[in-house]
Amino acid sequence: MKRGPSSPCDFCGSVQGLQCYPTDVPGADWYACANCVALIRIEDWDSLIDRSVAAYAALRSIPENELNALRQQVESRVKSFRTFCLLPV
Ligand SMILES: [Zn+2]
Repeated sequence: MKRGPSSPCDFCGSVQGLQCYPTDVPGADWYACANCVALIRIEDWDSLIDRSVAAYAALRSIPENELNALRQQVESRVKSFRTFCLLPV
């Protein structure tokens, strides 16, 4: 997962007000936009997952019967974010 400095938000694909969340793995930093950062700050993971699923569904026009699978993917992404990111305190 190598990305340049112009990477979009890892959760919703937005490029507004990006913040970098470093991990202890070089080159595997995460990026979150201002709206997602706000949810991360208050640890509202359910809202973050909802937001991410809605963004991906809109972006790729995911059929309704694949939304569950998409949600599971997003949930595991958020889980690995919480595991690997060095969250600012
Ligand atoms: Zn975002």
